[in-house]
Amino acid sequence: MNTLSDSATRPRLPEGRNFIAGEWRDESGAERITVTDPASETVLGDIPCSSAATVDKAVRAARKAFNDPAWSNLAPMEREALLHRLAALVEQHADDLATIESLDNGKPIAFSSTLDVPLSAQWLHYFAGWPSKLSGRSMHPAVQPTGSHHAYTLRQPVGVVGAIVPWNFPLVLAIWKLAPALAAGNTVVIKPAEQTPYSLLKLAELIEAAGFPPGVVNVVLGDGRTTGQAIVDHPGVDKISFTGSTAVGKHLLTSAANDLKRVTLELGGKSPTVILPDADLETAIPGAAQAVFVNSGQICFAGTRLFAPRKHFDRILEGVAEAAKSFPVGAGLDPNSMLGPVVSQQQMDSILGKVEAGVKAGASTFCGGGRLDREGYFLEPTILVTDDAQNPAYREEIFGPVLTATRYDELDDIIAMANDSEYGLSANLYTSHFGLAHRLAAQLQAGTVWINTQLSPDPHIPFGGFKQSGWGRENGEDVFAHYTETKSVIASLA
Ligand code: NAD
Repeated sequence: MNTLSDSATRPRLPEGRNFIAGEWRDESGAERITVTDPASETVLGDIPCSSAATVDKAVRAARKAFNDPAWSNLAPMEREALLHRLAALVEQHADDLATIESLDNGKPIAFSSTLDVPLSAQWLHYFAGWPSKLSGRSMHPAVQPTGSHHAYTLRQPVGVVGAIVPWNFPLVLAIWKLAPALAAGNTVVIKPAEQTPYSLLKLAELIEAAGFPPGVVNVVLGDGRTTGQAIVDHPGVDKISFTGSTAVGKHLLTSAANDLKRVTLELGGKSPTVILPDADLETAIPGAAQAVFVNSGQICFAGTRLFAPRKHFDRILEGVAEAAKSFPVGAGLDPNSMLGPVVSQQQMDSILGKVEAGVKAGASTFCGGGRLDREGYFLEPTILVTDDAQNPAYREEIFGPVLTATRYDELDDIIAMANDSEYGLSANLYTSHFGLAHRLAAQLQAGTVWINTQLSPDPHIPFGGFKQSGWGRENGEDVFAHYTETKSVIASLA
């Protein structure tokens, strides 16, 4: 079902079919999940809720491909060429990918065309450089007589990777998993979020066109409870790479523990934006607004807790509210839009419920707090003021355009305040004191600290969470610790 035919300028949405062993397969008899355009609340199409039996076929296809010399014996530079070819295809199909992403997720095309899609191509090009550089080490055993033994390590792919991604950056986050997994020689079964399946399906078309052997990448569609759980439970999956909520991440660990699958988790956040008294407010104010309102706040590392010095508090809040109000609101495909809808009715209801709980617990509403009076899941950018670190709006991840703002008096208190969270994904720091910035950066409990900048991940720089924001790191060389096994080989020279 495809209701986009009303506009000849829009790209075709891929059919809601699984991609297994290099074939596009209908899942006959499966329950269907409706996919909705969050800007108009109309139906875009539907996808199957794939069964455990379908997941089994995908895992078998991935295992077969993993064992096939067509993939396992490929020269590293040939894997590099495949990844570069895929990156080039992403660039070639950039307009279609951006349009699909904006339609499906609701994010402004101004962002999907300048961020999501270009970043996806950059990540693929970056990881395409790794296959020929991944190698083990040659070493001398420490307790054997010199010259009697030779030892070395091999870095081998883990095997079949089960990758599960959320809906906030459907294409980018799928590539954060696919690119390093494939660079290291693994094969993959990947599931997009049920709300936003289309950009990954389009990517699968490009993976096919790039010439990856059948079964190296398999896409299964479905929800978390049935399809995602079947991936996590499958004994043929060697590693789970999950991005999503902390609650689901914790749940997955118990299933993966059965056969001690390798697991990496990129989970939720409640990241602080700390503005120091000496900060350049011309930079800090728009920075604080962007850190929480871009992508309608649906960013795991959004700066959702603002700490501002009492003497500048009112000025900073007024500035952030003004910046938020200046973002033109509109559907993802509206070229002027800077603030799109949130992804679904369920997400909208969850956000509004959390705002209400925060206000009920004593937070005051500085601006926003409700739904916009128009069709689609549009919310007002919202700022709640609270000095109560136990307020639920301050503690819980809301995953929408909602900021809590808190005053501080003493610089000495700021680290304890910023670190007072179960999460530790990132932190934003604004100051003009170079030395202090780096001293504070060392004390913040966060996987990434941005100083006088925000929201700028990089393929070469590790990304991941402290505390309940996750396990492991994505990006850069560090990610390969999770996509390879180290094997030690020790030989007698006698
Ligand atoms: P979610 O955990 O509900 O779903 C994420 C994915 O997991 C989806 O594909 C879903 O179908 C699947 N899933 C759900 N239950 C499952 C189960 N029992 N077994 C296997 N798979 C299951 O999260 P969401 O609402 O889609 O995404 C928002 C969350 O993701 C937020 O908490 C956000 O902070 C987090 N996130 C984290 C990062 C990061 O890098 N740390 C990035 C983006 C989003």
